[in-house]
Amino acid sequence: MIEAGRVAIVTGAGRGIGRAIAVRLANEGADVAISYRSNNEEAEKTAKLVREAGRKCEIFKGDVASTEDVKALFDGVSEAFRRLDILVNNAGITRDNIMMRMKEDEFDDVIRTNLKGAYLCTKAAMRPMVRARWGRIVNITSVVGLVGNLGQANYAASKAGVVGFTKSVAREVAQRGVTANAVAPGYVETELTGSLPDEVKDHILGQTPLGRFAEPEEVAEVVAFLCGEGAGYVTGQTIAVDGGMTMQ
Ligand code: NDP
Repeated sequence: MIEAGRVAIVTGAGRGIGRAIAVRLANEGADVAISYRSNNEEAEKTAKLVREAGRKCEIFKGDVASTEDVKALFDGVSEAFRRLDILVNNAGITRDNIMMRMKEDEFDDVIRTNLKGAYLCTKAAMRPMVRARWGRIVNITSVVGLVGNLGQANYAASKAGVVGFTKSVAREVAQRGVTANAVAPGYVETELTGSLPDEVKDHILGQTPLGRFAEPEEVAEVVAFLCGEGAGYVTGQTIAVDGGMTMQ
């Protein structure tokens, strides 16, 4: 469980996995700040669900890869909640293409959002956490960052980067009561993956021992554990929630 009244920021929580994480953290006792890029209607839906769980919620529009927007997010959270205990770096995008055809902007956009976004938000979150001598940072990576994938060299690079980033942060803040871990989902049906062709989905299913895709709530379950009071001795880890796809 999460001590009641702790404050969490979940980036990219307007929909998909981020929404499930925001609602789950609220059910565990946290007040939640939601960041999203553009879809205000969906972010309001997430906020409604958090409030129905009896917790405070504020939504913040902005790009996690923009220094100004991230400053506005953290200033806004500080003003509205007066503390910050948990950061979940969940915002992420794909711009798939085979390497031979991958354009520079497709590479840059994905690295900016998925990796630089985590850097900017983590940097902003560290000060209040270190001061309080308590904090939980959870970064959403992907099995693609662990094993690679056709057509996703940019995404795989960003997500593998998140794994190394998480371990370095974990080492830096370990003595200050702050943990940093990564969660690596396999295939979860959201708007991010909705447009994948059926043959790609069948291929993924064939590689998944559990024989089905994950629900967003199953990812949120592991994130909630890592954010909880009881996970204080777990840091620098990457936990796959992938139906057994990448078991060693
Ligand atoms: P969705 O596309 O369903 O949702 C993405 C969310 O992130 C939206 O709320 C979107 O805002 C927000 N977002 C996107 N870019 C930015 C940005 N630059 N700044 C702020 N917010 C942003 O994605 P999923 O829920 O599927 O994915 C969530 C995370 O999980 C990602 O990091 C993804 O890489 C990872 N993941 C997903 C898997 C899957 O199978 N779905 C598998 C493995 C990892 P808006 O609604 O306003 O556009």
